[in-house]
Amino acid sequence: MVKTINRNINRKLFNEAKKVIPGGVNSPVRSFSHVGGHPIFSKKGAGSYLWDEQGKKYIDYCLCWGALILGHAHPGLLRVLKSRIDKGTGFGTATEPEIVLAKLIVEALPSIEQVRLVNSGTEAVMSAVRLGRAYTKRKKIIKFEGSYHGHADHLLVKAGSGLATLGLSDSCGVPQDFAKHTIVIPFNNAEVFKSTIKKYKDDLAAVIVEPVAANCGLIPPGEEFLETLRELTRKHNIVLIFDEVITGFRLGLGGAQEFFGIKPDLTCLGKIIGAGLPIGAFGGPRKIMKLLAPTGGVYQAGTLSGNPISVTAGIFTLETLKKLNPYKSLESKTKKISLALKSAAEKNNIDLKVNHIGSMFSLFFTKKEVIDHKTAKTQNLDLFRRFFKSMLSEGVYLSPSGFETNFLSIAHSNGDIEKTIKIFEETLKKLRRKKNDKC
Ligand code: PLP
Repeated sequence: MVKTINRNINRKLFNEAKKVIPGGVNSPVRSFSHVGGHPIFSKKGAGSYLWDEQGKKYIDYCLCWGALILGHAHPGLLRVLKSRIDKGTGFGTATEPEIVLAKLIVEALPSIEQVRLVNSGTEAVMSAVRLGRAYTKRKKIIKFEGSYHGHADHLLVKAGSGLATLGLSDSCGVPQDFAKHTIVIPFNNAEVFKSTIKKYKDDLAAVIVEPVAANCGLIPPGEEFLETLRELTRKHNIVLIFDEVITGFRLGLGGAQEFFGIKPDLTCLGKIIGAGLPIGAFGGPRKIMKLLAPTGGVYQAGTLSGNPISVTAGIFTLETLKKLNPYKSLESKTKKISLALKSAAEKNNIDLKVNHIGSMFSLFFTKKEVIDHKTAKTQNLDLFRRFFKSMLSEGVYLSPSGFETNFLSIAHSNGDIEKTIKIFEETLKKLRRKKNDKC
């Protein structure tokens, strides 16, 4: 009975929303178009939990798409935000806390000498690419299939995340001309990368990569792949941009670049810094960053950039991560969940591959041993949908698409993990492969 009421309230809100908001949502994957049914409307969060408008409680593994590494409504964060907001919500002038946050970022990521704050990951990437083009005085960029770098026109080519979820390779409304300088090649294929560099090296401004692909499910880089990118971009004076909007402060305080020991030229950040508030950042060495206006000729600006509320969240989050250094514990919990999932799938004769790294994991219902953006697309999405819905009804909120990643926060307790594993096991038992199932 309670479950029926739950569904009705979410459905009612969704129907209302659709009247005044395109598709009922302000970002496509939220609509549950990939998994079917009605999205949940969140009412509040605390720690590892999320409550929908009906009051149903979920253990949350989507965590505002990875932004909430401290969990929902961290009491210390709320305290500093409340005291900050009393002083005003925005000034459009420089503020001292911006310096504090910039120093924390510079200290955590040795590849960054200077950093500029923006309002989203999309803005960070857009600006970094512009800067790379200005620095090299070249036009072309390389991106990788299935990776997502926000929704700037020239990057919406064979992208992951919402485009993969909706089965779109490119976006309508982007003239071919806008994307003609974007070369798209497969992730984790060093040979194709080498031949592309050979062909275009004199025209290439930048190579942009998610060091761990996390928008086509989770696909870690193959051995030596990032090293090859670094070596050849350095050799040919091409700017290597690490899009660490997801991996930044998640794989470690020093992000993927510290994890893999590779120093990019420019880095894009977002999500975790804002702890759920809008923010993005990009940075690199002074010799490149100084090209930005007002010192240089690359125009980049924002009325709300460096917003004091978002900046306060950033300072609190980075200081807390620095103090707690929670990465080992997050990794071991994530590993426990991933291994339990895999073994429950085996017990129930279900072909499931679970990729995990640090505090991220994703599921692919497939027989394939090696997952790349192509095999990710051949996973049994019908099984994913059934799995997702069953988990949801049992109170576990996973990212609502087979092309997204799941995350853990420091608020996820051992009890949450045990409970989730139990629900995983029961759910996979329900989905036990019947004779005629394909996967
Ligand atoms: N880059 C990556 C790797 C992302 O995953 C995302 C968003 O998920 C973005 C950029 C865009 O960030 P935002 O949604 O804050 O614009």
